[in-house]
Amino acid sequence: MEKKIVVLGAGESGCGAAVLAAKLGFDVFVSDFGAISDKYKKMLDERGIRWEEKQHSEDIILSAGEVIKSPGIPADAPMILKIKDAGIPIISEIEFAGRYTKAKMICITGSNGKTTTTSLIHHIFREAGLNVGLAGNIGNSLALQVAEDDKDYYIVELSSFQLDNMYEFRANVAVLMNITPDHLDRYEHKMQNYVDAKFRILQNQQQEDAFVFWNDDPIIQSELPKYKHGKLYPFAERNNGNMAAYTDEEKIIFTEPTPFNMELEELSLTGKHNLYNSMAAGISANVAGIRKETIREALSSFAGVEHRLEKVAKIDGVEYINDSKATNVNSCWYALQSMKTKTILILGGKDKGNDYSEIADLVKEKCCGLIFLGADNKKLHDFFGSYGLPIADTHSMKECIDAARKMAKSGETVLLSPCCASFDLFKSYEDRGRQFKDIVNNL
Ligand code: ADP
Repeated sequence: MEKKIVVLGAGESGCGAAVLAAKLGFDVFVSDFGAISDKYKKMLDERGIRWEEKQHSEDIILSAGEVIKSPGIPADAPMILKIKDAGIPIISEIEFAGRYTKAKMICITGSNGKTTTTSLIHHIFREAGLNVGLAGNIGNSLALQVAEDDKDYYIVELSSFQLDNMYEFRANVAVLMNITPDHLDRYEHKMQNYVDAKFRILQNQQQEDAFVFWNDDPIIQSELPKYKHGKLYPFAERNNGNMAAYTDEEKIIFTEPTPFNMELEELSLTGKHNLYNSMAAGISANVAGIRKETIREALSSFAGVEHRLEKVAKIDGVEYINDSKATNVNSCWYALQSMKTKTILILGGKDKGNDYSEIADLVKEKCCGLIFLGADNKKLHDFFGSYGLPIADTHSMKECIDAARKMAKSGETVLLSPCCASFDLFKSYEDRGRQFKDIVNNL
C-alpha cells in the first residue's frame, strides 16, 4: 500500500517536505492549525497536494504512516501528543529530505552564531565554484531543493527543534558553535534536554566525518566524551596544542587539513563572536578541500547578515546598530563586548526565562543608558533599576528611538540587542529590526 505522509505546519519546511513527498509518489496531506499564506497555498495547489488550514482533521492525520512536523510546533502540542499515542513516527523535514539526496551535508548548530556561520560557509563554497545549497532555518527548505534542484553540498542551519526529530540523518561535517541557555521553555526548563538536542547533530557520524566545535565551551567539553563522532576539529582563541584554528598575535592560524594563516584584519566580520564564526567556517571549508586562497578571499569578502550587528546609520555623531537577532542574553553579551564606544542599549521583549546577570558587568562597563522596549518591562526595571543609569521605558519602536535620540550624545552608539524574542510587540525579529532601521533612516 502507498505510504501516507501527513505534514503538520505549512511554512517553508512543511511545504517543501510536501512537494518532495508528492514528487516521490507518496499520498500527502498538509494540515496547519493556523492560516496558510497565499504563497504556500499556491505551491501546494500547483502540485495537486491536499491541504487544510485553521484546523487539524484528526481522522486523516491519525491514518498517516509517518508525520513530518514543522520545527515551530511544540512537542507537547495536543495533536502531536495524539500522534505519539497512536505510535506514528514523527520526523523533521531535514530528516525526510536527507533520505533522498546523496549530497554532502555540512550542518551548523549552537545557541548563537548559526545563521552567520552557515551563511559564511555557504559564501566560501559558492566562491569556490561548488554546486551548493543553503538550507535549514534559512533560504529554501532542504526538501524543496532536493525535489527540484538537488545540489552536491548543502550548508544546513539546524535549530534544536529541527534536531529533536532527526534520527538517521548524517552530518558529514557537524559544527557546534556553543551551548548557552535558550528556548528552555520548550525543554521543560531543563538545560540537559536542550543540550541533548544540540548533540543530536553528532548522531550517525562516521569516522571519516568531521566535528568542528568551540573548544572553550564548558558544556561541549563535558558532554563530548558521551558521544561517537568523526575527526575532531576544535577551535579557540588560544592554542593548547591541538586546535584546528586559533589566533596568534594578529593572525588566525588554520592547522589542518591544510595549514595556512590569514591576518585578523582581513576578516570582513568584526567582534570576538565573529572571529569564532570565521574560524568555524574556515575549518569547514578547509575540511571540504577548498583552496586556502579561496577561503582567505571569501572570509574577507563576506557582506554580513541582516539584523546581526548591522550598522544602520550615523546621525549627529551617534552610531545606530541593529542586532535585533540577539534574542537571548548570551548574544547580547557578545554584542556589548564588541562595542568600542559608550553604548545606549535597547533591550526587552518576550522574555524566555532570561538571567540578566550574564551581562551585568558589561552593562556597567559599556552602557551610558538603557531603553526598555517591551509590552511589560517590569523584570528589566527590577534587575537594572539600581545601576544608576538613565532608563527609558518604551512600548513601541517609535517611542524607543525618540528616547534614544534624546539620550545619546555624539560619539556614542545606540545598540538594539534585545536579549528577548520579539513577539510581544512585533511580528518577528526581522520586523523589529526593519522598524528600527526605517525609523532611524528617517531621523
Ligand atoms: P543564530 O542563528 O544562532 O541565532 P546569528 O548568526 O543569527 O545566530 O547571530 C545572532 C546574534 O548572536 C548576533 O546578533 C550576535 O550578537 C550573536 N552571535 C553571533 N555569533 C555568535 C557566537 N559565535 N557566539 C555568541 N554570540 C554570537
